[in-house]
Amino acid sequence: MARLLAAHALLADGWAENVAIDIAPDGNIAEVAVGVTDPDAERLSGHLVPGMIDLHSHAFQRAMAGLAQDRPAGRADFWSWRQRMYGIARRFTPEDLWAVAAALYVDLLKGGYTTVVEFHYLHGPPEGGTYDDPAVMCFALHEAAQEAGIALTLAPVWYARPGIGDEEPTPAQQRFIQPLADFADIVDRVDRLFRDDRDRRIAAAAHSLRAVPPERMAAFAAEIDARDPQAPLHIHVAEQPREVADCLAAYGARPVELLADHVALGPRWCLVHATHISDDERRRMVSSGAVAGLCPSTEADLGDGLFPFADYWREEGVFGVGSDANLLTDAAGELRLLEYGQRLQRVRRLIATRPGEPHCGAALYRAALAGGARAAGRPVGRIAPGFRADLVHLDGDHPLLAGRRGDAVLDTLVFAGGSGAFVRDVMVGGLWRVRDGVHADEERARRGLAETVTRLLE
Ligand SMILES: [Zn+2]
Repeated sequence: MARLLAAHALLADGWAENVAIDIAPDGNIAEVAVGVTDPDAERLSGHLVPGMIDLHSHAFQRAMAGLAQDRPAGRADFWSWRQRMYGIARRFTPEDLWAVAAALYVDLLKGGYTTVVEFHYLHGPPEGGTYDDPAVMCFALHEAAQEAGIALTLAPVWYARPGIGDEEPTPAQQRFIQPLADFADIVDRVDRLFRDDRDRRIAAAAHSLRAVPPERMAAFAAEIDARDPQAPLHIHVAEQPREVADCLAAYGARPVELLADHVALGPRWCLVHATHISDDERRRMVSSGAVAGLCPSTEADLGDGLFPFADYWREEGVFGVGSDANLLTDAAGELRLLEYGQRLQRVRRLIATRPGEPHCGAALYRAALAGGARAAGRPVGRIAPGFRADLVHLDGDHPLLAGRRGDAVLDTLVFAGGSGAFVRDVMVGGLWRVRDGVHADEERARRGLAETVTRLLE
């Protein structure tokens, strides 16, 4: 049994001092005690908080970070960005995916994330069909997570068709699209690999209502239920006004309505983006307990629009944040952008607060932990017995944290510099992965990324 002794720690019922945390050999927190002195424990002089959950990532898109900021011919919008993204997606081999993901996961750990949920749709070879090992791309992500030491919830994505209507698949879509049986086979293989690993979790995703017809959602959910009736279910929904218009034209219903009419919307579901929703759809999400998977930096980059977060917060809707296209790898940065979007729109300050929770950064951080844990389907987000020892130690020597206590520390993390400035050590499943701001595998991972990106762009 390893023992940490934190000068300050964020526990489920608030901040405490001199907190002893006993960690079992399996990486679970065994016991937490407050007001302890123990000369033999590993002392942490700063502020210890649960690591954040990145509830939505497409690791491969890290390779194109910064490369879609020049103007294409015609309109620059989500759809022109998607063409650019497809151009890179077509070229990825399993080795490329492994190298890009391994470097990304090092950066995510340094950015304060301890779990990543991969929404993964690059299944087959570029020309379509399946690899000899149909789950080889999933295994590349698993191995990258293993190398970096981040916990992984892997959501293989079912992509049944190119879009609403009789669209022809684009060349890049060939490798995403598969029959339900092939998708189920991948889920099966990943599930078997992950079964005895506490830092791995199988989930499943329907890409969107564009890619999976609503009448097939029940069949999709049934495939997962047969294997794991608790597995999280994810979907991209209502990211773009065009998707809303297409759904209304084809089905006479808006996307979230349509989804709620075809599946049992509940806490297992994570609705990614949900940007363009009506008041009624928002209330349905809130009452269902589904998680809103918000990706503020990507939504800003793609010009998606703003999720109605102020109303959703007031109604106590569940949410978490995701790095999505992975331009930003900073958990605190996503929370800051989420709040700032609403301040700019509403012309007022401190949106994510409520009676008893006056600290905006702290309230955002706590809520995103709870929603992220739900979307990842893992016992994380709390420093308490039975939860994983997934911990972030904030630098107690940082001049801006000097003399700050309690929720003011999280406010400073979120609004005054982000994770890069304050994250000092990061532990996943009881093992330190980042020490004094450095990841042991960082140099190698960065070299691998440089070689891969250079080759992909040739
Ligand atoms: Zn996405």
